[in-house]
Amino acid sequence: MELSLTGMSNQNVDGTDQVVKVLILGSGPAGLSAALYAARAELQPVVLTGIELGGQAALTNVIENYPGFPDGVGGAQLGELFQKQAERFGAKVELDTATEVDLSQRPFRVTTYNGTYQAETLIIATGATPNHLQVPGEVALTGRGVSYCATCDGWFFREKNVVVVGGGDSALEEAIFLTRYAETVTIIHRRDAFRAGAILQKRAFDNPKIKYIWNNVVTGINGQEAVETVRLKNTQTGEETTPSTQGVFIFIGHTPNTGLFKGQVEMDARGYLVVDQLMQTSIPGVFAAGEAADPHFRQVVTSAGMGAAAAIQATRFLEEQGEKVEKPVSI
Ligand code: NAP
Repeated sequence: MELSLTGMSNQNVDGTDQVVKVLILGSGPAGLSAALYAARAELQPVVLTGIELGGQAALTNVIENYPGFPDGVGGAQLGELFQKQAERFGAKVELDTATEVDLSQRPFRVTTYNGTYQAETLIIATGATPNHLQVPGEVALTGRGVSYCATCDGWFFREKNVVVVGGGDSALEEAIFLTRYAETVTIIHRRDAFRAGAILQKRAFDNPKIKYIWNNVVTGINGQEAVETVRLKNTQTGEETTPSTQGVFIFIGHTPNTGLFKGQVEMDARGYLVVDQLMQTSIPGVFAAGEAADPHFRQVVTSAGMGAAAAIQATRFLEEQGEKVEKPVSI
């Protein structure tokens, strides 16, 4: 994804913090859709990309269920299109990450690697991060056979035998993708039925390169320089086995990236930000969109919709505060 590095410091020339009407944290579908709507309302939004440019969607090889692309669209390509469209209306996309927030009063103070912003409204679109198995060997062998991204790392496993852990849409989608490269892909699932949707299940079952190990959990990943075996335990019989493999791709759900807001914004027991139907968090003027606030749908299209809604509400909020803003222009 291309980035416009619009400034290395977010301080004004006189050294004061940059004041923005809408500050958006995160550059996935939610953040960039919010930027588009806020920009079209002439609020000159600033997007802090965070570390993962384009969010998780940018790591997806092909997105087949985003409306308007009947032949599918590359995840990174879709992110670039989102960004280009937002920038066309004046959004600024900064390669920067928030490190601290003070939401105790407006304008909200957001410290980043490059300085500090004062934001009249804040849209949190920080997304979610893949869960880890938390078994011995996982951390040490990450990047040496253990991966959380088939699109990023699949190429390294040409004609090798790999395993995929998980039974949801991500696990099956990524397993199917990995068959482009790998000799075999074995899906290890802790139950005897997948959670994934019917279409993906059919595609996986029809793929001769995909094999299955049911009712097993991974209890360890072994290898010296790189992954050599996984240690498995049968959930029904307790039997332990250590099949050989050269790659371990883990897709067992996600955790929202909301640690920065702990103690300031209401969240549920799993850390998802609590929003009302207007994308409003527990703090007036702070909105949230996308996977940071959505444990249910987690689709590119729903995240984009939440981002648009958050920006429309931020616009209304500023209007109510007496700010002069243009109404969001509908297409
Ligand atoms: P998910 O639906 O939460 O599935 C996670 C899978 O990992 C489940 O099968 C779960 O097993 C398993 N799991 C969880 N913890 C585990 C552990 N410690 N050890 C072993 N297995 C474990 O996550 P996801 O697949 O990332 O999907 C998340 C959301 O994104 C879903 O709403 C999904 O529909 C959506 N999504 C959609 C698409 C698409 O539409 N093409 C693609 C990707 C994701 P159990 O089944 O036993 O709980």
